[in-house]
Amino acid sequence: MATIINGKETAGKKRLEIAAEVKSLKARGVTPGLAVILVGNDPASRTYVNNKEKDCSECGIVSEEYALPEDAKESEVLELIDRLNAAEHINGILVQLPVPKHISEEKVLRRISPRKDVDAFHPENVGKIMLGDYDFLPCTPSGVMDLLDEYGIRVEGKSCVVVGRSNIVGKPQAMLLLHRNGTVTICHSRTKNLAEVTKGADILIVAIGKADFIKADMVKDGAVVIDVGMNRRPDGKLTGDVDFAKVSEKASFITPVPGGVGPMTRLTLLKNTIKAARLQKGI
Ligand code: NDP
Repeated sequence: MATIINGKETAGKKRLEIAAEVKSLKARGVTPGLAVILVGNDPASRTYVNNKEKDCSECGIVSEEYALPEDAKESEVLELIDRLNAAEHINGILVQLPVPKHISEEKVLRRISPRKDVDAFHPENVGKIMLGDYDFLPCTPSGVMDLLDEYGIRVEGKSCVVVGRSNIVGKPQAMLLLHRNGTVTICHSRTKNLAEVTKGADILIVAIGKADFIKADMVKDGAVVIDVGMNRRPDGKLTGDVDFAKVSEKASFITPVPGGVGPMTRLTLLKNTIKAARLQKGI
């Protein structure tokens, strides 16, 4: 039976460390500030934004919310970003995705100053991650690495398989594993014989968005299984991409959903906001 990797507990513990760091920054006259831009009324986005603001207030980080209506013009969003880029008291800027269809996500993300880009989505920061010389890491892949570290799971020399190749999870996740000297394979919807590939993984990270997709016969005995997926069941309950009940009988370590990667994603945002404050204030 696998050890359950408890992301909720780990994130809670690390939030206390962050709160202590914020306190010491405040003693030096610096209060980290995060601006969160939300366009439209998507209920899931509203929940994510509320959670992020709650995390900030728990740690002493000031968060400012900018809620714009669904029909806000692209130019309004870009002008708001310009103002926040110039605002002294704002160290990090986050635009909650997705934005409504009439607004270009690409334009919006490129407009955020790379120095305030706490989601690490700006092409400049993406490029720096590729080079292994970065200020900010994207929230979910960095949270996964923190969980591996917390549980003493070493990556070097291991066969690592990432299922999913999105710009926000799969690709940067693969890069972070590579930086730690893992031997990395990335799979996607066109991968042939997926189960053959996943069965070779010492560390299997799944981010596809399909409930219970990874079955026990796709996993090697003793593998470490990290489930990034977040899917809603018809009864409203949250579930991952991995068949947790069966796979946990085979794996050595496994993350649950909820309570695994999700809380760690939120944690990285706090870390990045503090990092941004330090960089901007030269501390
Ligand atoms: P995307 O939809 O952007 O990407 C999904 C990826 O999965 C694509 O690369 C796609 O391949 C691949 N894929 C889809 N179906 C299959 C399949 N049958 N076999 C192999 N690969 C497949 O999703 P995201 O990366 O944004 O998110 C993935 C999941 O993670 C979602 O459930 C999301 O909610 C969750 N998530 C969770 C977070 C957390 O904090 N826990 C944070 C971010 C996301 P292709 O490229 O070929 O289309």
